[in-house]
Amino acid sequence: MADWNYPLAKRKRRNPRDPCDGCHECGMRCTAGIQMAEDEFERIVEYLQKCDPNEARRVLEQSKTVQWFEDISYEACLFYDVTRRRCLVYPARPLICRLFGRVEWLPCPIGRKLPLLHNGIELIQTYARQRRATFGEWCVERGIFDPRNLIAAKPE
Ligand code: SF4
Repeated sequence: MADWNYPLAKRKRRNPRDPCDGCHECGMRCTAGIQMAEDEFERIVEYLQKCDPNEARRVLEQSKTVQWFEDISYEACLFYDVTRRRCLVYPARPLICRLFGRVEWLPCPIGRKLPLLHNGIELIQTYARQRRATFGEWCVERGIFDPRNLIAAKPE
């Protein structure tokens, strides 16, 4: 798996002085159309197959239209759980989601000063050379027309 998939700043063993406390305000950026490289797509597929099927189905079947203000709504990412405000595939999420708050061009939306990746530019340049597509586009390429087909069968 390519190295850029797991930037150091997002690995499990976080710096305890990291000001990111998981408040999840960056979840408002979880909009539809996030692109990913092929191995990221495959990692998500693998993760979905191991998820609790009921939970995965609940999230995938939600309406993803989120009302922001009275007149403003947006379409959330397929994997964004709009009721519990979390990512269904968080451990397998693509690089762009991991970079939030960790590179100058994707700042923390509530202005927390988080430790930045020292090699963010190189990382994204390497990444940009990969072919990328949305999860739905990768699915269609492989003849998967409903992502729910990737979920393990419902327990009897
Ligand atoms: S994959 Fe997860 S973290 Fe990335 S945009 Fe979708 S819901 Fe958000």
